[in-house]
Amino acid sequence: MPLKPPPPLDRIKSMIRFAPSRRMVLFAPAALAAACAAPAGPNRTVTDAATARFADSDWRTLTDEQWRARLSPAAFAVLREEDTERPFTSPLNDEHRPGTFVCAGCELALFRSEWKFDSGTGWPSFYDVIADHIGTKTDYLIGYPRTEYHCARCLGHQGHVFPDGPAPTGLRYCNNGVALQFIAA
Ligand SMILES: [Zn+2]
Repeated sequence: MPLKPPPPLDRIKSMIRFAPSRRMVLFAPAALAAACAAPAGPNRTVTDAATARFADSDWRTLTDEQWRARLSPAAFAVLREEDTERPFTSPLNDEHRPGTFVCAGCELALFRSEWKFDSGTGWPSFYDVIADHIGTKTDYLIGYPRTEYHCARCLGHQGHVFPDGPAPTGLRYCNNGVALQFIAA
């Protein structure tokens, strides 16, 4: 007995499967935008109030490729991959003029020059930060818990904060110089 030929509807469906459907064509750009909006890298799950406030920022939609095009390899490694620069390598260690230190990724102001102090660590250090402009999370990258902080707008990694800083806060924001830009007042 010969096999029954497939009904015409199944034939049509199997043909559609190999051609981009109207639905796919319509929704592909939206799906792509949604995928890009989720920041790449370890900061993906950050949900604190400061970072939530900037959730709609265009900076959040940049892809790794776009960041690579904007940043030096060293800045990309720190900002986007949470690398740590070698100590005593940043020219900002010797920056003592009045002004503002901004995120090297998106130029959001993070530190005022009067909060900078010489920690002796070889990294630009500050005892205070513009709190609304950073987010924090706990990481275990070197085996014990540390408080990581990052730009609240572009989520670029900046450094770690430790409870051994000078008065009046007692905090030490230990920042990668390559993740900052200095804007003189
Ligand atoms: Zn930023």
